[in-house]
Amino acid sequence: MTSGNPFEIAQRQLDDCARILDLDPGVHAILRQPMREMHLALPVRMDDGSVQVFPAYRVQYNDAKGPTKGGIRFHPEETIDTVRALAAWMTWKCALLDLPLGGGKGGVICNPKSLSRNELERLSRAYARAFAPFIGPDVDVPAPDVYTNPQIMAWMMDEYSKVLHKNAFGVLTGKPLCVGGSAGRGDATARGGLITIREAAGILGLDLSRARIAIQGYGNAGYYAAALARSEFGSTIVAVSDSRGGVYHPTGIDPDVALAHKQATGSVAGLPGAQPIANGDLLELDVDVLIPAALEQVITGENAGRVKARILAELANGPTTPEADEILDANGVHVIPDFLCNAGGVTVSYFEMVQNNAMFYWEEGEVHQRLDQRMTLAYHRVLEAAQRYGVTMRQAAYAVAVSTVAEAMQLRGWV
Ligand code: GLU
Repeated sequence: MTSGNPFEIAQRQLDDCARILDLDPGVHAILRQPMREMHLALPVRMDDGSVQVFPAYRVQYNDAKGPTKGGIRFHPEETIDTVRALAAWMTWKCALLDLPLGGGKGGVICNPKSLSRNELERLSRAYARAFAPFIGPDVDVPAPDVYTNPQIMAWMMDEYSKVLHKNAFGVLTGKPLCVGGSAGRGDATARGGLITIREAAGILGLDLSRARIAIQGYGNAGYYAAALARSEFGSTIVAVSDSRGGVYHPTGIDPDVALAHKQATGSVAGLPGAQPIANGDLLELDVDVLIPAALEQVITGENAGRVKARILAELANGPTTPEADEILDANGVHVIPDFLCNAGGVTVSYFEMVQNNAMFYWEEGEVHQRLDQRMTLAYHRVLEAAQRYGVTMRQAAYAVAVSTVAEAMQLRGWV
């Protein structure tokens, strides 16, 4: 999945920020490591009667700002260092959006595509049972991420509720609507990303109704990004892809037709009427907006020089390496960094927590309006910091987020 160690990249990015902010060495030392991490083994009865043991992790990176928050990934190539990096990025993401939350992440090494529905349910319940002593609405609140979804969240919430002998809807977010989910959570990551793209386009003078967009990844984030860019902005989606391949059409792909094709065949590849395109080539297309919405480290020192997009909107976590960042900066690509661009998901997760606590649920319009407010504000805080410090958008996002967490740590007397 990844070439470099993602946690080393996360630490390098933090070190760079510490230099820009002249960060207190004690704060820096605390923020370089996860506060706490759990490594558990989950035995699961398979359909054929055998037992398989799945390694599972939860990393609680920093809780100075509030309970740790972040998704759980089910992936065959998951590593503890990936989970650590993602937990660090969640810490910065929540701080940047001014949410009263810290950062965490979970992962299970498994191949969900080869599990039956019953096996997936037993694995999800095993995760919630085993991690029950370490999570909770005031402690650590999981959510969906790569290859986990609202159904999995419903099973986990149910299992956790059984352990506690009470309904505990607030233990995790991204639940289906009728069991404590929030309106607007489904497309929140993409919707939040599009708000930042809208703001960036305004600054750059780019007319999004004429923009050509390429999207790598066609899961929850990628599909909704395509659908909303077309419906809200009237942009043309010229290319989409998933782990099995991609398709290109110069006059535009209908996102719902591509989704129906993926649901029928398992991939967007082979969409009738479109040309095949490799995932690597999609990143180098002559487009206005490039949206990596899949996995880490796809834009590297090797291919960054060939990225032609004016805006690189990182809906995935960690898609760009530090070597690539330097090249993109030199080439004037406007990068909307991951923990700004994809923060819509956790922002609506936070709204879900608020609604669970209040036992009162909001209309979708209210969710959209509050999401827009927070994403717009965060984008402009980052842009303003980039100008103030004379640094890249990623460095600026780090500066805003890390100084917020540092202030919380100082006020709490940790340093
Ligand atoms: N997994 C998403 C992320 O990386 C959402 C996390 C959450 O909602 O807690 O931001």
